[in-house]
Amino acid sequence: MMEERKDIYFFYKKDPKINEKVHVLIDLVERYGFTVVPTQEEANIIVSLGGDGMFLQAVRKSGFRQDCLYAGISLDGSEGLYCDFHINDLHHMVDAMTMEKIEVRKYPVIEANIDGEDSFYCLNEFTIRSGIIKTLVLDVLIDGFLFETFRGDGMVISTPTGSTAYNKSIHGAVVDPLLPCIQVTEMGSLNNNIYRTLGSPFILSGERKLKLKVVPDGNVFPTMGMDNEAVGLQKVETVEIQLTDQVIRTIKLKDNSFFEKVKRTFL
Ligand code: NAP
Ligand code: MN
Repeated sequence: MMEERKDIYFFYKKDPKINEKVHVLIDLVERYGFTVVPTQEEANIIVSLGGDGMFLQAVRKSGFRQDCLYAGISLDGSEGLYCDFHINDLHHMVDAMTMEKIEVRKYPVIEANIDGEDSFYCLNEFTIRSGIIKTLVLDVLIDGFLFETFRGDGMVISTPTGSTAYNKSIHGAVVDPLLPCIQVTEMGSLNNNIYRTLGSPFILSGERKLKLKVVPDGNVFPTMGMDNEAVGLQKVETVEIQLTDQVIRTIKLKDNSFFEKVKRTFL
């Protein structure tokens, strides 16, 4: 591994069962010349222990750092979409630590700006949905052009790596993370002679700007989410979403391409 990247921070749920596993990992990485540091700020490698959900939290809680490598170690089941390693497969980790030249994989990140004020990054997706038993109405603008007016449960705007998560459950396409783009997927759109939406997911180039305007039709308090965290804002008028130039860097391993992971997870 690269000389300058030697300080590891382990991100995990403090739990006695996990602590045991962490000790094994600390011994292992120290044997290979790495130092385990007590805070993420001191680290240049951040490793989550848990599932993909834990990896998302590790990235969020450390502030989507551009100057470090992220890696995920899965503790149960199999590896995940973000977890390239499994706790029972130390060989794999040793291979990564002894790699002569490390190859880096870059995952695109979405930025959602709410009412021109607060900006949030998302690695999987930004979600906006009705928080009440009433449809949510959204004007959907692409580069300022009114494309459609959506009425229904809500919408999911996902990154390529998020395409296998929520997006996939609502029949969005799985997207190669080598394509810098965002996907817009509907949740329960109402389609009749009055309300009409495209009715299928669509994918926008990373250059485009998507704007969602909440139409004040008795439902102006939608629930918004960035990955696995709720946005702590109540009233919202507009959300502007686009790809950022920020990326999440992970270690690229042999025989572990995105589509190998998709196959391993779903097929
Ligand atoms: P969760 O509700 O406990 O789990 C959602 C599941 O999605 C877990 O099995 C998780 O894997 C998996 N997952 C997360 N990111 C993924 C990805 N990029 N590709 C494939 N699977 C992925 O919540 P969580 O574990 O904190 O994960 C948060 C994510 O859940 C959200 O970002 C959203 O995408 C997704 N979600 C899906 C639905 C749905 O499908 N109806 C609804 C709400 C949220 P692990 O078990 O390894 O953590
Ligand atoms: Mn989870």
